[in-house]
Amino acid sequence: MAKTKVSSEKGGSQPKTRTKQVRKFKGIFLSALTLNVFCLSLLAQPSPLPTPEDFFGFRVGADYHLLNYEQAINYWKKLESQSPKIKLFEYGRSSQGRPMILAAISTAENLSRLEHYKDISKRLALAKGLSTSEAQSLAAQGKAIVWIDGGLHADEVAPAQHIVELTYDLLSDPSPQTQKILEDVLTLLVLPNPDGMDLVAEWYAKNLGTPYETSPLPGLYQEYIGHDNNRDSFMLSVPETQSLNRVIHHDWYPHIFYNHHQTSPFPALIFVPPDSEPTNPNLPPLLLRWQNFIGTAIAKAFESEGKQGVISRFLFDTWYPGYITQVCDFHNIISTFSETFLFEYATPHFYKAEDFPPEYRDFTISLFFTNPWLGGWWHLRDAVEYCLTASKSVLDLAAKHKQELLYAKYAMGLESIERYKKEPPFGWVIPPGQRDEGAAARLINNLIALDLEVFQAEEDFRADGAPYPKGTYVLPTSQPFGRLLKTLFEAQVYPDLRRFPSLWQSIVEPIELKVPPLRTYDVLGWTLPYQMGVATSPLYSPLEIKMKRISRAALPEAQITGVGGYGYAISYANIDSVIFLNRLLKSGAQVFWAKEGFPAQDGQKKIFFAGDLIIPAGAFPPEKMKPLADEFHLQVFRLKREPRCPKQKVSLPRTALYQPWSHNMDEGWTRLVLEKHGFPYTSLHNAEIQAGDLRERFDVIILPNESPDFILNGHPMGTMPPEYIGGILPSGVRALGEFLKEGGVLVALGSSCDFAIQQFHLPVQNVASSLKPEEYFASGLLVRVRLDQSHPLAYGMPNEVAGFFANSPVFQDLPVPADSRPPVVVGKYAAEDLVLSGWMLGEQFLKSKAAVVEVPYGKGKIILLGFRVQHRGQTVGTFKLLFNSLYNAGSRDLP
Ligand SMILES: [Zn+2]
Repeated sequence: MAKTKVSSEKGGSQPKTRTKQVRKFKGIFLSALTLNVFCLSLLAQPSPLPTPEDFFGFRVGADYHLLNYEQAINYWKKLESQSPKIKLFEYGRSSQGRPMILAAISTAENLSRLEHYKDISKRLALAKGLSTSEAQSLAAQGKAIVWIDGGLHADEVAPAQHIVELTYDLLSDPSPQTQKILEDVLTLLVLPNPDGMDLVAEWYAKNLGTPYETSPLPGLYQEYIGHDNNRDSFMLSVPETQSLNRVIHHDWYPHIFYNHHQTSPFPALIFVPPDSEPTNPNLPPLLLRWQNFIGTAIAKAFESEGKQGVISRFLFDTWYPGYITQVCDFHNIISTFSETFLFEYATPHFYKAEDFPPEYRDFTISLFFTNPWLGGWWHLRDAVEYCLTASKSVLDLAAKHKQELLYAKYAMGLESIERYKKEPPFGWVIPPGQRDEGAAARLINNLIALDLEVFQAEEDFRADGAPYPKGTYVLPTSQPFGRLLKTLFEAQVYPDLRRFPSLWQSIVEPIELKVPPLRTYDVLGWTLPYQMGVATSPLYSPLEIKMKRISRAALPEAQITGVGGYGYAISYANIDSVIFLNRLLKSGAQVFWAKEGFPAQDGQKKIFFAGDLIIPAGAFPPEKMKPLADEFHLQVFRLKREPRCPKQKVSLPRTALYQPWSHNMDEGWTRLVLEKHGFPYTSLHNAEIQAGDLRERFDVIILPNESPDFILNGHPMGTMPPEYIGGILPSGVRALGEFLKEGGVLVALGSSCDFAIQQFHLPVQNVASSLKPEEYFASGLLVRVRLDQSHPLAYGMPNEVAGFFANSPVFQDLPVPADSRPPVVVGKYAAEDLVLSGWMLGEQFLKSKAAVVEVPYGKGKIILLGFRVQHRGQTVGTFKLLFNSLYNAGSRDLP
């Protein structure tokens, strides 16, 4: 489609003078009121829209120029004030408080009937109660809703910039193609990461013209989760993901969802579907074909325009459901995504063939790389034009196939409803009386937020031979987006691509592969109830019982039982009891952990366990406890007398979290998880650690998952502005050593355990560090971990949890010097049935090895949390290992 070029060149100097002329005439009108007729005829002419270049003073994608979010929104507002074909909607606020705005573009007539078209889209999406002929009729009446976003990953800059120019092109291009798009498509243009767009533009502007012009941002481009903002789409942990989820899955119900990225596998200039293998087996077959069709249409548009370097079926696969596109797929929204080529920001770069990886230097052509790029200059403008070609080809396809697209969505919803009436799993049940009711409620509310239908049984029933009480949650797979439920709830069985090479290698004689890794682009196993520690059962036979649909998890009512004046006992099993506990501690209440189980009343059967909370009434009379109990749905037991068990006083620890000058998502996730559970903390940087005196300020310091080398050495000289160079360095290690000797606690997460082992010469070895890739591969799965529940680190937890394991350390004790206390193992990888969900090679290296270890050091200790206890905010079932590590640092045994 040559129109990309034509319309963008139209954004040059010519219309600028026309705009100015109109402004001049308007001035005459205001000062000479008698010239009404003349001026009215002039005003009747719509004033030409300002081009991006008029508005910003430079062309979108010009070398060394990046638009920030505020500029882009101001331009949108200007266009909205002048054109009836664009309407802006605020749909949320970012983590840093910026308004999240989308632009809907169509004909004025279509925009005046938005609610009507949204309603059609919703009815087709939900499918229920519509006959095929009614669906056909709605598909004929409706409009294709196409979502196009740019800038989710903010340092991939071209996509967000292209959105601005695409807006202008759609509003101003008189070509028949664009007019048909306006007529048949409601285009939604979105800049989904406002904070990131500003942070990156500001960083680039600051370094422009210095040696650090292309240096990476020394932090995250989303307040908490950075690049993982495209891994949060089923857990919905941050405000941006929550707002995007709401506007996509509860408001617009789009038909096509196009998510732009900019990390094309060099020297390809853009990646488009078909995607790589493995394919998630729960994706609707019809949707996969549409994806391939759209990807091929995009690729064809590039060849028509003579644009080289389009690649498909490479690197990016559809296995993990946390991507924003994947959650759309599971809502029967045909998603597509692309990865355009990038140098850095708006800085151009010249590529010679010698820069290419060896396998690309002879420009071999293949079916999915038909027209290799030969090298040359690559400017931001080139990337913007690639994004424009791709977006416009998708809109063109949507206009041409509008009715078919609308009907396909209905067909996919209906297929899911009908298929899982006949085929297991028929659904899942979540019985009441969960060990952790708070986690179960979070899971259920998350599913409802994802627009899944959740029911509650209104009678006792049996399913697959097992009895379930009234109040059991029932989640049928037979629903329009039932495939999402299935993919989140079942254990992942990763297809070992070595077994049947002919299934996925598109070559005459498929090659037998002996060695892994046969990796996927992201993790291999994620089963959400396992991660959250919620007990569920699949339904292998159809269930027909009386049940009602719910819009929120119904937690058990709070109860205060027992009589007595000493105080209260409360279970610590519920994840929300952590928030409650922090609230109590902040209010100055005294709280103790029982170090052994105890009976609620003398002579009674034991009902409280080690780790449960004992709260002397003192400053906390029942009338003060009641509202808190209600808020957290607590079962509170009033104690007559002080329990005789040994106790440990719980204090709010003075917590510090190390923040390296990198895009460390684990650091951000840790902050988020701490904040959500009410832990105050201080972020610590290299210089503050090196300055020492840490024990005076903190009880505990957390090292997030980070490579030992980066913690120690950080960025090398010359790669970043001087203030971000280096790691904690030997002086920081010494300061941490002093902190430990004086009784501080260091909590090492994931890879930072290796840092602690190496720098403090711990009598512990990571046995996974020396394994060869052909014998060991474990890049993200759930494994069974057994915990010592009597140890304070495991208080409130079951004896077995699903640990998220991603090339995590695996510990083995070494001989301990005679004058030292030995490490204490709190958690071990299971000896049997290790893999719970996903796949790994080399299970034998984990079995019975230590996963959670407390190592005494001076008066303090180092806690090694090997597997990823707070990974992506999803592993609610293991959060307490982190929280307890903190409480233990601030707490002490009673004499
Ligand atoms: Zn990206």
